Amino acid sequence: MGNQTAIRGSRTQSLPRASQKFPKGRVCEHPDCNTMISTYNRRERCWAHAEMRIPRLRGRKPASDSA
Ligand SMILES: [Zn+2]
Repeated sequence: MGNQTAIRGSRTQSLPRASQKFPKGRVCEHPDCNTMISTYNRRERCWAHAEMRIPRLRGRKPASDSA
């Protein structure tokens, strides 16, 4: 953990928003969970309680149609 202030790759425009960080010190939305949510995590729950919507494509999906 540290201060990551550098955003490289794109020039910084003077946007009204300060940054895309999320409030610090959030905890999991689950009432019975005190897991801290990362500042960069946009979810409201920890990984354990987050809606696991991981598609079943691990790796490449098979090419069903080859031109
Ligand atoms: Zn949780």
